[in-house]
Amino acid sequence: MYNKKKLTILLLLMLVINILGPVQVSHAATIDNVIGTLAASSVPSTDGGANAFDKLFSLLFDKILGPILNIFGGGKATTTSPNNPIKVTPLPSEEGSSGSTDSGVLRGKIIVVDPGHGGSNPGAVDNGTRETDNNLAVSLKLRDKLVNAGAKVVMTRETDRTVAPEGSSLGQELAARVDIAEANNADMFISVHSNSNPDPSIYGAMTFFPDGKSSKLALAVQDNIIRETGAVDKGTSSATFYVLRNTTMPSILVEMGFVTNADEARKLQEDNYRNKMAQGIFNGAINYFNN
Ligand SMILES: [Zn+2]
Repeated sequence: MYNKKKLTILLLLMLVINILGPVQVSHAATIDNVIGTLAASSVPSTDGGANAFDKLFSLLFDKILGPILNIFGGGKATTTSPNNPIKVTPLPSEEGSSGSTDSGVLRGKIIVVDPGHGGSNPGAVDNGTRETDNNLAVSLKLRDKLVNAGAKVVMTRETDRTVAPEGSSLGQELAARVDIAEANNADMFISVHSNSNPDPSIYGAMTFFPDGKSSKLALAVQDNIIRETGAVDKGTSSATFYVLRNTTMPSILVEMGFVTNADEARKLQEDNYRNKMAQGIFNGAINYFNN
């Protein structure tokens, strides 16, 4: 097992070096990000138990390196046939309900839903859509789903307004959101945002978590968002956003899609797509509490 792990680490490093090249500057930067992204797009979040690294090792070894190198005979990589020695097993498809329909775990949980921006700060605006409107619409749908499942939901805002008094600084505005989560002793904090990029061809959903915690929650939510919406999976990543750094409960910030991409901007304005987005976040929260 030691050799297996050592070899995996070596090959993982090679893989990371290969990947770092083409990754976009705005999203690359650290090995952590790459590993987070890999884990997000490759590992079923319903496994529970093992951490992302262990899962990544198993995945790399059993599904990719094992078959390619045909070493350590047998193991789980027995699907390889002589006619097709290099077989990279595709991503796991639907894994059944895996508990995401069992919403009982949400009963009594205090969940703060934070629609980003609002009032005098609309967030990203492009292609005829404002970030604040998308964020609020999805957050309200998420609120309803959570409440129906028995959770106690606290919204940082339910209308198009700032959370701190108008005219407050950005710092005060963000602190007001954190204060709500802390004052309510929340079990979970979910901030909902829409993304932007100078390059209009960039699109996809991603989920951020504070360094050192909440990566499991981010993976669960990201996985379920992709499953529900079919959005391009831009993975999960740690980030130092104020609301993530300063909340003490598990916290994530979801970037649902890019308003700067015409096609995604259009989707983000559709009621049906917003509902799928809310459903994905909701299912992710259930999966997280189930594991
Ligand atoms: Zn935002």
